Formats: sequence, structure tokens, C-alpha cells
Amino acid sequence: MVVRCRPGIVLNSVFATVPDQRCTAVRCTASGKRSSLSPSFTHDVSPQRVVFAPGALARIGEEAERLKFSRALVVATPGSGARLGEKIIGLLGARAVGLHAQAVIHVPKAVAEAGLFAAREAKADGLIAAGGGSAIGLAKAIARDTGLPIIAVPTTYSGSEATTIFGISEGARKVTGRDVKVLPRTVVYDPDLTLDLPASVSAASGMNAIAHCVESFWADGRTPVTLALASEATRRFAKNLPAVMADGHDGEARAQCLVAAWLSGCVLSVSNGLQHKLAHVLGGLSLPHAQAHAIILPHVSRFNLQAAPEARARLAEALGSHDPAEAIANMLRQFPIPQRLSEIGFDAGKTDFVAGEIAAQSITSPRPVSAADVRELLNAAF
Ligand code: NAD
Repeated sequence: MVVRCRPGIVLNSVFATVPDQRCTAVRCTASGKRSSLSPSFTHDVSPQRVVFAPGALARIGEEAERLKFSRALVVATPGSGARLGEKIIGLLGARAVGLHAQAVIHVPKAVAEAGLFAAREAKADGLIAAGGGSAIGLAKAIARDTGLPIIAVPTTYSGSEATTIFGISEGARKVTGRDVKVLPRTVVYDPDLTLDLPASVSAASGMNAIAHCVESFWADGRTPVTLALASEATRRFAKNLPAVMADGHDGEARAQCLVAAWLSGCVLSVSNGLQHKLAHVLGGLSLPHAQAHAIILPHVSRFNLQAAPEARARLAEALGSHDPAEAIANMLRQFPIPQRLSEIGFDAGKTDFVAGEIAAQSITSPRPVSAADVRELLNAAF
């Protein structure tokens, strides 16, 4: 069958029509006739059960039973996280063995060790991570060493619950790795739990999730599935994150952002370029993770999109803007979160250290990144 189309444009029934790309099966020749082009990618995902509904928290007992938890340790951050943890203990009844509400951002090594000790002391046979990326990160650190299964109850948009990635920080460095053992077996998404998420955390973790999507558009490991999920997540965030900022109790916008967060987590495994490597090095310097992501995202986008026309077209389409990097910068400007690295404690004296760390990683996709490029980017973001 011959499909007539504009030369040089890729036809794709699932994805939007965008300029040249790797992951499509059909390409138009100069004559406007379709020619076959083999896609080339590896899509490798581990199974995960996802329960999504307003009020889904009430089903946590059922989900724990499904995984045969009889001594579940609930892991959370202090404060609001601990309150949610206590509620979960109440819902689990005899299946709960205790609450460990000592999660801290970036999972410092000592915090990971204390979590491991608590799980062993309690003879836990399962973990319930209740909260944002910090609580989920601590549960992952425990699971990495014990193999205990996790049920995640996410309350921010970090997307960590959908990945096999774990991270532990020590000194000025954060070490990350991948292990299928740390992927939560089940995720219970209850948008009602996000209604009181402060605007600042909503915006920062939402921008963190958008960063997962943006970077997945130019990532070497992108697949038709990650591209589709990233487009969908970006579209939902672009429409609903501003609505959440206007009214945190807008249940529909909250639910749409949580769906987008899930999808963004699903593409995070391929998002390992400049954006995430830079955020990672900044995290090692104790900068807040989501805020650092949000601040550098417009700058990294501007830098990389010049060399990634396909990613630019996809992002432009998802954001409804001809200048996607500027659209992201605009989004950031409207959010009640720090706008510059100087506002989140970045020491400009560390610029050369960060530039050296990134240059040493020899990033090439979508373009090479030199130490001078990183210095320029950090100066602009400072
Ligand atoms: P967070 O978990 O640190 O939460 C931020 C603050 O919001 C905390 O004080 C928390 O108690 C509070 N909070 C969370 N949910 C709330 C709610 N519903 N209502 C009121 N307060 C609430 O922030 P985060 O951005 O979700 O996570 C950041 C961490 O996640 C970092 O350590 C980062 O490295 C990690 N992360 C990991 C991955 C991964 O795949 N491994 C992905 C993204 C982020």
C-alpha cells in the first residue's frame, strides 16, 4: 500500500506528526511514497500493579494482603508524612508492624542504615512507602539490601514510585543505581492525598516530573512507548499544574497531575542526560532535588533543543508553544518556587567542580557538553 504524504515527514498513527525521528516504522521518501524503515530500540520494563482512584488509600489493606504482607513497616518523612503513616497503620491493623518516619531528602547513608536497622529489628516482611520521593527513596534503600517488596503511596509528583532507580548520598556525592528489587510491586495513587500538598512542593515536584519527560524526548534510549507517555504527561501537566497552583483543592486538576506524574516516572528510566546528571551532581551538594531540576530545566532545554529538532517538535506540540524552552521558563516564572540557583544555596565557588563532574561523563546526546558549556549554563541559572 502506498501512503501519500509530505516528503521528509514521518507518519505515525500513535504519535503526533513531527520531523524526522528514529522510533517510527514509516517514513516518506522524496517522492512522497511510503518506504519502510526499521525502528531500532530496546524497551525493557518490569511489571508493576497500579491502583488509581480518589479514596484508593482505603484499599491499602487489600493490596497488602495481595502481597501477603503480615508485618508491614510504613516508611515516611516526619510531620505530614508521619500523620499519613499513622493513618495507614490504622487501615492495615494487624498487618502493620510499625512506622519509621525518618525519611530525609537524598537518602543520606546514615538514614538508609537506620531504615535498614528498623526493618530488620521489626522483622518486617514488606514496606509501605507513604509520601514523596524522599519516603519512597528510603524504602528503596531498605529494599535494595533486604529484597522486601514495597507498596508505594505517592503524595507528590516525583515519579520515583515507577522506577528501578535508587540513590544514596554520602558527603558531596550522591550515588545512584538501578535494581529491579527496589521497584514498588504496587502503587496506590489516591489524588485526595495530594489536595493539601503545598503549592511550592506541587510546583517543584511537578517541574521535576516535566524534566523526566523533556529529557526522555532526546534520550538515546527513547522508544515509541516512552515518547508517547512523555507527550501525554507533558500535556497533562501543562494544562493542570497551573490549575493546581490556582486552586490546590481542584480535585480534577490534582488527579490529572498525579496521572501525569505516574507517566513521567515511567519514562524516567531513559532520562539520563544532561538535565538529570546535572541535578544529580547538584543534589550531592545538598541542593533540594526538585527545585534544582526546576531551575535548570529551561536552561538545559534551551541548550539541548538546538541540537534535537525531533525533541523540540514533540515538546512544542505537547506544550502548545513554538518556543518550548521559553514556555518552560514561563511556567517556572509563574510558580511560587525559587527561580535561581543562588536562591537555593548553590555556592558559585563550586561551579568548576560541577562542570568537571559533568564533562567527565562525556555526554554526547543530543550534543556534546563541555565544562565551558556547563559553566555557562550554571552562570545563567545562578
Ligand atoms: P519530598 O518527598 O522530599 O517531599 C517534600 C516535602 O513535602 C516533605 O517535607 C514532605 O513531607 C512534604 N509532603 C509530601 N507530600 C505531602 C502532602 N501530600 N501534603 C503535605 N506535605 C507533603 O519531595 P519529592 O520532590 O517528592 O522527592 C524528592 C526526592 O525524591 C529526592 O531525594 C530525589 O532524589 C528523589 N527522587 C527519586 C527518583 C527516583 O526515581 N529514584 C525520582 C524523582 C525524585
